[in-house]
Amino acid sequence: GAGDVHAEVVVLGSGPGGYTAAFRAADLGKKVVLIEKDSSLGGVCLNVGCIPSKALLHSAKVITEAEEMGEHGISFSKPEVDLDKLRGWKESVVKQLTGGLGGLAKARKVQVVNGYGSFVGPNMIEVDNDGVKSTVSFDQCVIAAGSEPVTLPFIPHDDPRVIDSTGALELEDVPERLLVLGGGIIGLEMATVYDALGSNVTIVEFMDQIIPGADKDVVKPLAKRIESRYEAVLTKTKVTAVEAQADGLKVTMEGPDGETVDTFDKVLVAVGRRPNGAKINAAAAGVAVDERGFIAVDSQQRTGVAHIFAIGDVVGQPMLAHKAVHEGKVAAEVAAGQKRHFDARVIPSVAYTDPEVAWVGMTETQAKAEGLKVGKGVFPWAASGRSLSLGRSEGLTKLVFDEHERVIGAGIVGPNAGDLIAEVALAIEMGADAVDLGHTIHPHPTLSETVNFAAEMFEGTITDLM
Ligand code: FAD
Repeated sequence: GAGDVHAEVVVLGSGPGGYTAAFRAADLGKKVVLIEKDSSLGGVCLNVGCIPSKALLHSAKVITEAEEMGEHGISFSKPEVDLDKLRGWKESVVKQLTGGLGGLAKARKVQVVNGYGSFVGPNMIEVDNDGVKSTVSFDQCVIAAGSEPVTLPFIPHDDPRVIDSTGALELEDVPERLLVLGGGIIGLEMATVYDALGSNVTIVEFMDQIIPGADKDVVKPLAKRIESRYEAVLTKTKVTAVEAQADGLKVTMEGPDGETVDTFDKVLVAVGRRPNGAKINAAAAGVAVDERGFIAVDSQQRTGVAHIFAIGDVVGQPMLAHKAVHEGKVAAEVAAGQKRHFDARVIPSVAYTDPEVAWVGMTETQAKAEGLKVGKGVFPWAASGRSLSLGRSEGLTKLVFDEHERVIGAGIVGPNAGDLIAEVALAIEMGADAVDLGHTIHPHPTLSETVNFAAEMFEGTITDLM
């Protein structure tokens, strides 16, 4: 057809993984085509993920901080929330970034092809743009098709009162009673936003703690704060039925105390994400997709078909943008003939809740489960002058060390924990030990000092706390 093109490298999907791979390959001299089904570039992260959620979380933070300034002798009246304006502001942040990507693609002569791509052979993708079909033939391909929210069979997802993270970010209204199904990062971030906007929030989590991937002591300050702010935080509880009724959504739950039934105005389903691997006819290219929709890759991001790579959410956990970006660079560089492979030791995780929870590398729980001989240095933020000056004292910085006193993991909870975790990621990559962290002069008074102090706590060399 008229729209048929050839690419040296074609990238399927324009999320953080895909656009990174496309740009890197173009910078390395490749003729690149980027296929995207949505009207704007940027994937989940920019359009309905990382970025809009952080924009709203900032507003939420301002609201709750203003509420709590009374203790400091400063009182504000109750904030008036103009939802349309707030939504508009969030959208303007997203547009600025996604529009920027368009410009970056153009500058690199990356050709964007709009439409839904499916493999029709080992060197050919067919693109369907609202029924208009074209083909992209390629020498090499990077699959970056991402993921979508998991749906559950016993939930009436067609009911407009049942929403996923995308629906929650649309900010259609502020429900009086909101049930958040899933106590993971995405559910808790959205809960943070709606709590600040005035919803009565209930969290239901199947495991025995919220954010099951992080250590319990690190999650505790967040759990404590939301238990007092929210209507309820129910762990070891599962939702078994949701029934649409005229006056709300009737939810049946099974917890430690048996079965309960309650009615909510909205239910946000945030029980995980499912990879899009099974939806691109990968078999036509000979690329294997497992029963869950993941595509297996080697350390160079190659699938079982040597000229086809895969990156990001579609290749596995953790489903995080910075992992997708890193893998995108690896795939593009290998496609361009460089000797790169994925050799990052650790990938940090952050819940941008209030307080933030961040962890990287080995958790204490993991280390113990694996029978490793580890030590830890824990610094409570109640002894940090900077934390106290923020009116917050519940934070904690914990470092995990191996038998050679090298840092192998960290968990941090408190305001800005997400920014602080990066230092420990670097320390782990560099093979730093407790002395390296303890002898590095950190600026005072900052929250970053808590990393330094935690190392000193481990060494037993801490003198005065401030
Ligand atoms: P995606 O971003 O999923 O992009 C895939 C792209 O491919 C999409 O644009 C899709 O339209 C397109 N596509 C798929 N199939 C086809 C096809 N057949 N043809 C054409 N186009 C196709 N991660 C973080 O690191 N930090 C955060 O703060 C964070 N917050 C999040 C908040 C929310 C509410 C959500 C839902 C996710 C969040 N994430 C966060 C996760 C992050 O968004 C993902 O890990 C990241 O977007 C994955 O990037 P990706 O490139 O693999 O795929």
